[in-house]
Amino acid sequence: LEEKIISLEGRVPKTYPDVNFLNYLKRKRILITGGAGFVGSHLVDRLMSEGHEVIVVDNFFTGRKRNVEHWIGHENFELIHHDIVNPLFIEVDEIYHLASPASPPHYMHNPVKTIKTNTLGTINILGLARRLKAKILIASTSEVYGDPNIHPQPETYWGNVNPIGPRACYDEGKRVSETLTYAYAKQENMEVRVARIFNTYGPRMHMNDGRVVSNFILQALQNDVITVYGSGVQTRSFQYVSDLVEGMVALMSSNYSQPVNLGNPVEHTINEFASIIKNLVGGHSKVVHVSEVEDDPQRRRPDISRAKQYLSWEPKVDLNTGLHKTVEYFRNELKRFKYSHRN
Ligand code: NAD
Ligand code: UDP
Repeated sequence: LEEKIISLEGRVPKTYPDVNFLNYLKRKRILITGGAGFVGSHLVDRLMSEGHEVIVVDNFFTGRKRNVEHWIGHENFELIHHDIVNPLFIEVDEIYHLASPASPPHYMHNPVKTIKTNTLGTINILGLARRLKAKILIASTSEVYGDPNIHPQPETYWGNVNPIGPRACYDEGKRVSETLTYAYAKQENMEVRVARIFNTYGPRMHMNDGRVVSNFILQALQNDVITVYGSGVQTRSFQYVSDLVEGMVALMSSNYSQPVNLGNPVEHTINEFASIIKNLVGGHSKVVHVSEVEDDPQRRRPDISRAKQYLSWEPKVDLNTGLHKTVEYFRNELKRFKYSHRN
């Protein structure tokens, strides 16, 4: 490395004033599929601020240019409009594969497309990684555990998924995505990482996302009724997006190739969550119970021992802090939306 430093001294482009010389040498070309989405765009910020070259590939189904617009024009950043169901030919060192709708209303909107994205799309991205000998991280999900019989869920649990239910396009899609990843790893001797991501929230979530965090916050901000699906005794554990991004980066740079849960183990019933949001936002929304959704997992909480042991990672942002930032984001989004509709 020292020899390389000496031979390159003086040839580092002056356009990287914030990036020190060693970081310049460590710089990678990184592909993020789905990088214009909620999680992907935060990962873009993280990797760009470290001085890497970042290429985002996105079909803008649920992602938006606005999520990454602050990087457009930066010489290290490229945004490619492309659907990963079609093969992709680019040159990179590392791949974070996030492209897939993630919220139930989005992935159920076109179930066949969701399956194609997670199967054909994942094959295309794994094929790309194989050709380039690039390390690849797959964004999997806690949904691979389905409606779990084991609680909290460790990575060794095989799950309880209805293969023909309304969530199957996503759950089974992601399960196949994992299967493909390990088949490629074994057969093609590839370096793979699999992150099983639990419910994540934060700024840049889609307004019409339909997930519980965005629904409840928007309902409370507009003094609408807060809609709890079913009895509300079902549970979820919510992770702030910056914790997830740190976990994904730690997983990518680790030597660990088995699946790793990334989530916050603090668990709440949906009824409790409705009260938390109501108290935080204020206003006079009423909490109402509407019909339950089919195959809704009843309990979900990650066992994060593996992430602690192999990545020295655990979430840092507590629910109150994360929700404050998210409520602020949605408040501004509502203002922006009203303003743009007035003019
Ligand atoms: P998101 O919908 O905001 O982002 C997904 C991105 O993928 C969007 O930009 C979308 O336009 C893009 N995309 C979808 N299909 C595509 C295709 N065929 N070709 C190219 N781009 C495509 O969702 P998110 O919350 O940011 O989720 C990112 C990843 O993390 C997903 O793979 C999701 O399954 C996984 N995940 C997220 C959560 C969560 O709580 N947010 C939980 C578990 C897993
Ligand atoms: N939920 C709810 N009201 C809503 C949206 C969701 O009660 O307006 C419930 C949903 O039934 C589930 C939990 O909140 O039990 C989390 O749902 P979400 O769609 O956010 O994510 P999931 O974990 O189910 O993918």
